[in-house]
Amino acid sequence: MKIVNVEGIILRLPVRQAVADGTQDDLLIRVETDEGITGYGEVDTSPEVGKAVIDAEMSHGTCYGLREILLGRDPFDIEQLWELMYRKTNYYGRLGAVMHAMSGVDMALWDIMGKALGKPVHKLLGGSYCSDVRAYASLLMPEQAQEVRDAVRGYVAEGFTAIKLGYGPLGQDVRKDVKLAAAAKEAAGSDVEVMIDIGHGYSLKEAMQAAREFENLGIFWMEEPLPPEDWDGYRKLCESTSLRIAAGEQEAGRWTFRRLIWEAGLDVLQPDISRVGGLTEAKRIAYMAHEANRLCVPHAFRTGVLVAACLHLIAAIPNSAFLEFSVTESALRRELLTTPFKVAGGRVSVPTQPGLGIAINPDTVEAYSVRKGI
Ligand SMILES: [Mg+2]
Repeated sequence: MKIVNVEGIILRLPVRQAVADGTQDDLLIRVETDEGITGYGEVDTSPEVGKAVIDAEMSHGTCYGLREILLGRDPFDIEQLWELMYRKTNYYGRLGAVMHAMSGVDMALWDIMGKALGKPVHKLLGGSYCSDVRAYASLLMPEQAQEVRDAVRGYVAEGFTAIKLGYGPLGQDVRKDVKLAAAAKEAAGSDVEVMIDIGHGYSLKEAMQAAREFENLGIFWMEEPLPPEDWDGYRKLCESTSLRIAAGEQEAGRWTFRRLIWEAGLDVLQPDISRVGGLTEAKRIAYMAHEANRLCVPHAFRTGVLVAACLHLIAAIPNSAFLEFSVTESALRRELLTTPFKVAGGRVSVPTQPGLGIAINPDTVEAYSVRKGI
């Protein structure tokens, strides 16, 4: 089998806001083979930048576009193709937008392998630990405590047993954040876990103050309280509290995660499969975390394509606890798959169909596709 085309398709909702919502646009990756099998992946980056990484013409030996690297190659040589993409983009790539674009391609290659073999991706990643995964509803933190209580009660009523609230007003005033977290916990009750995502808004001392309060409230984890590069701050914070500290969604490549695990001492590692280097790299990171007795809970705030990739990874590793399940009202999130993922009893089933086990809705691609160049 040979790869005959690699395509980046930009999708975009007509109206967007400058908020922390990764479901307003998308870079969908389509990889075609000479045997008629097509794989899909998704990239969480600036869509135009990611598409340029795929389309770029070769400039010199370590400055290629991804399509040119992959054409004519066997999609089953996935480890070798990962290395080729990494090395042949070395001068302009490594751990930023190129790794993001590689992630979507890697996802599509796993999809192709699964479809060719008639097996779901998790069976190729090492086999399954579970057939369904506990989902946490992931939403933006409302401004007012009463809105928080209403939102949390709504998701509990839908069956969620874990809820994460992030960004919005968080990260500016510890006392206000504690009030909002307390409102969430009060509405959630003792059987539902609550996570708080600060969106890297704190100094170390603010994070320590918040950690004390959140621990007393019974918050399950505090996410990204500090800037992503504050390794020393994370280490001091983690040593000062028994509250779980989570981070990693900003990062690409396993080398950074090595530092997050062993230098920063994080409790919950959150690689985003559509940014970190795809399923191939995410599995390496998950097992690095497992070696250190830490949790790996992939970050996911895109569409059902990434949700599928997360489910396959989580099913194939021993150290995850949750699936991140965005509950935004975005049409892309709800309509890109012909059969969207459903939460039942707070859990989402791991796909059992070949490949990623999803089908892309061509009408949605048609409706939101951005055809003009940049
Ligand atoms: Mg986050």
